[in-house]
Amino acid sequence: MFTNHSDSYEQIRESVRRLCVDFPGEYWREQDEQSRYPTEFVQALSDTGYLSVLIPEAYGGSGLDLKAACIILETIHKSGGNGAACHAQMYTMGTVLRHGSESQKNKWLPDIAAGELRLQAFGVTEPTSGTDTTRIRTTADRDGDGYVINGQKIWTSRAEHSDLMVLLARTAPREASPKPTDGLSVFLIDLREAVGKSVTITPIQTMINHATTSVFFDGLRVPAESLIGEEGKGFRYILDGMNAERILIGAECIGDARFFVQHAAAYASERTVFGRPIGQNQGVQFPIAEAHVQAEAAALMVEKAAACFDSDQPCGAEANMAKLLASEASWRAGDVCMQTFGGFGFAAEYNIERKFREARLYRTAPVSTNLILSHVGTHVLGMPKSF
Ligand SMILES: Cc1cc2nc3c(=O)[nH]c(=O)nc-3n(C[C@H](O)[C@H](O)[C@H](O)COP(=O)(O)OP(=O)(O)OC[C@H]3O[C@@H](n4cnc5c(N)ncnc54)[C@H](O)[C@@H]3O)c2cc1C
Repeated sequence: MFTNHSDSYEQIRESVRRLCVDFPGEYWREQDEQSRYPTEFVQALSDTGYLSVLIPEAYGGSGLDLKAACIILETIHKSGGNGAACHAQMYTMGTVLRHGSESQKNKWLPDIAAGELRLQAFGVTEPTSGTDTTRIRTTADRDGDGYVINGQKIWTSRAEHSDLMVLLARTAPREASPKPTDGLSVFLIDLREAVGKSVTITPIQTMINHATTSVFFDGLRVPAESLIGEEGKGFRYILDGMNAERILIGAECIGDARFFVQHAAAYASERTVFGRPIGQNQGVQFPIAEAHVQAEAAALMVEKAAACFDSDQPCGAEANMAKLLASEASWRAGDVCMQTFGGFGFAAEYNIERKFREARLYRTAPVSTNLILSHVGTHVLGMPKSF
């Protein structure tokens, strides 16, 4: 993806690739086996400024575009690593940069850019509402000069490793709002003092090493300045973050797909059975070639979506289609790679089974394939809504 762009993009790709050499498969395997957060990797990315590429130079970042962020995440994944430990710092910028006030940006962005503050948590999903975001139950009630937050989020990844959280809550009941998407508001919450008091974080063990959690809010008081943009208009703001998230995750999927294709092609060329390399058999070779074709086609859609986002054009359809195509391409490439490696694909030391498990997530999160098809069917093609 983005291979024919200017030198600076290529320089980013090359220097991220070099950084990833210090974090080989053994490193990721160890984190996975111990369900450990890859602190050293995240620190290295922060120290080199890669996590703050989207923050404008005026606030201490590099002021680059989403394309650059895509290249960083794609390269991490193609190198065998996993950007999920820190990608939220990039996609939350879709909400904060576009809709945060000047004083919020001055207050938070320089410290985030300097690596002194971590904005890694994005609290949207709730246990009872699932994908139906307008039915979330977490509330933020106005009280004097602030808000009081009550409710529960689920799957809030990296909350234990973040100082700040972008949170979606209801400031007006759904029933009392003109549209279901009205009455939702976005807050930038400082977790540092609150955790262990009015915020409780409970880890959730999953099939991948993802540091995901449930977060309970029990009367969390936040200042009014925590509100991003206008009260009740948060759904629109969060969509900018979600579109950025879908594009960035699409880029990670492209990196995964390329990892799988590269490893499958290399293994198929080396592994000799029945007196010849298995890749000489078209039953082995063609699925790998097909996975490559699908990954490269998906990469074009990710690139298109990033270009739309960067030029401030509406990009909901492109972001959704990019995420769908890229996640299906990486899943397909992962399956082909597993099949090519035969029994060795299951051995942890080859890193294929770990990547295969990790790649599966993106058919479900941050938005599932069905919900994307529904978006395309109704919003793009104008067919009747099913919900
Ligand atoms: C490891 C992990 C990390 C995550 N990190 C975060 C995070 O940091 N922050 C956050 O806010 N969320 C996070 N999520 C949540 C994720 O975005 C949701 O799991 C995802 O959007 C699906 O929602 P759900 O699990 O509630 O599924 P549900 O909404 O319960 O849906 C279940 C299944 O039914 C299908 N379905 C539901 N309704 C329909 C319909 N009308 N038509 C057709 N099919 C339908 C869905 O496509 C899905 O396949 C994470 C999830 C996981 C697993």
